[in-house]
Amino acid sequence: MIPATTTQSPTQTATHSTASTSCTCPECEGAIRFDRPPLRSQVVRCTSCGVELEVVNTAPVELALAPEVEEDWGE
Ligand SMILES: [Zn+2]
Repeated sequence: MIPATTTQSPTQTATHSTASTSCTCPECEGAIRFDRPPLRSQVVRCTSCGVELEVVNTAPVELALAPEVEEDWGE
């Protein structure tokens, strides 16, 4: 018999910290949840309106509209 041992990577290191970090989209006020605490200047995408948001503060989490990267395509 093969022992049913599931090898899972030990990702849970600190379980006593904040369970889940959530924030509100400044564009549509939709809820944005982070699986892990966001990093400053990290860019996330709102799942509700699809806008890109930049993390400008982490404690508490503040989001701001990420500056649009205007690529010059010579339109
Ligand atoms: Zn949004």
